Amino acid sequence: MIRKHHLALSLCLWAAALPTASLAFEPSASKAAIDQQLDKDYPRLDALYKDLHAHPELGFQEARTANRLAKEMRALGFRVTEGVGKTGLVAIYQNGEGPTVMVRTELDALPLEEKSGLPYASRARQMWHGEEMPVDHACGHDLHMATWVGTAKSLLAMKDQWHGTLMFIAQPSEEAAVDGISGAKAMLNDGLFTRFPKPDLGFALHVMPAPLGVYYRAGTATSSANDLLITFHGKGSHGSMPQEAIDPVLMASRFVVDVQSVISREKDPAAFGIITVGAIQSGSAGNIIPDTAVVRGTIRSYDPAVRDQLFAGIDRTARGVAQMAGASAPELRLSSAMNYPSVVNDPALTERTAGAFKAAFSDKARAMPAPTAGSEDYSEFILAGVPSVFFGVGVYPAEAFAQAKQHGQSLPVNHSPMFAPTPEPVIRTGVAAMTLAVINVMQPVTK
Ligand SMILES: [Zn+2]
Ligand SMILES: [Zn+2]
Repeated sequence: MIRKHHLALSLCLWAAALPTASLAFEPSASKAAIDQQLDKDYPRLDALYKDLHAHPELGFQEARTANRLAKEMRALGFRVTEGVGKTGLVAIYQNGEGPTVMVRTELDALPLEEKSGLPYASRARQMWHGEEMPVDHACGHDLHMATWVGTAKSLLAMKDQWHGTLMFIAQPSEEAAVDGISGAKAMLNDGLFTRFPKPDLGFALHVMPAPLGVYYRAGTATSSANDLLITFHGKGSHGSMPQEAIDPVLMASRFVVDVQSVISREKDPAAFGIITVGAIQSGSAGNIIPDTAVVRGTIRSYDPAVRDQLFAGIDRTARGVAQMAGASAPELRLSSAMNYPSVVNDPALTERTAGAFKAAFSDKARAMPAPTAGSEDYSEFILAGVPSVFFGVGVYPAEAFAQAKQHGQSLPVNHSPMFAPTPEPVIRTGVAAMTLAVINVMQPVTK
């Protein structure tokens, strides 16, 4: 409660300091200047994107990626500190008196085999939970990184138009928490806001499978995410002698089916909630009944009360399934491995940023009617006291989107092995939007 008041107060101070209708800042004129700058910068950003895309790295292993970004930012004149939160980096640029504004990108990719067939597709492999896995930038963090560098470039090219301190951060492991610690938390634990200036405001963007453009939402912008990990303990036996066994494959299967009734029958149908089982691991051969089955999944919700209801339903279903089989109680781990709270955008800052977006992008800047189902650990920075706007950038030309819809098809979404949008329009849109968002809050104070 106290922190909430404090946040509101500090934002009010900035809002008071920032003229609402600045004489100097015209979003549409600035967008034209950014577009012109991009005509010069884009070929280098394209090369950077394709290099990052072809060499993805998994969470907390992003050494090459971080190094590449550090070089880019140093060349621009930023003061760069590497190794913050293991592989994260912080790049600072001071340009006179004014607020400190944070811009975040993520560094990590996913343990997944790319199937885009593109000439610059990834063939990378890395160790993940003791197993060598293919690696793919299937969430678009490579687009975010190219946009992040492009934004830094365009801000420096326009540095007569803003004042203050830029704090560009690249965080590790957004996709996965290791022992409950995601990349954002790791950076905070490593003194992000004590060794470096604590930002007054922050921005981050995420690409999404929507028509090209910019998407914003005041208040809750993403779902909260919790990991689900259950181990069912049975009794192993020969496949021909089930009477000697307690079959954990059957328990896991029953759980996967029955747990969906928690979604459909227990929670309010109008409330958002998802339980997805994404992995079942059990057994080694068709004629052996194994002794354990491990079920992994993800739980998404907007409302903590719904989340608690889902937790209770999962717990009851898992125990019930084991009891029906005459097995011992299953081991349940909810949320201990990963717990990403919802990203909640600052309403005043969102309104201010949306104003600039609408002026520059007209009908290609849209308010989102509902939060996205995705989750993000950017929420950790907000909870640490940085009022922020986390916004979306659509990746497909409106026509492609409409055409696919017409044919009853869908374009690849984030985390699909086919997700690799044509980079140019996305990076250009992202750079223009992020540059405008930053300049908009770094106007010289008129007295
Ligand atoms: Zn992702
Ligand atoms: Zn992502």
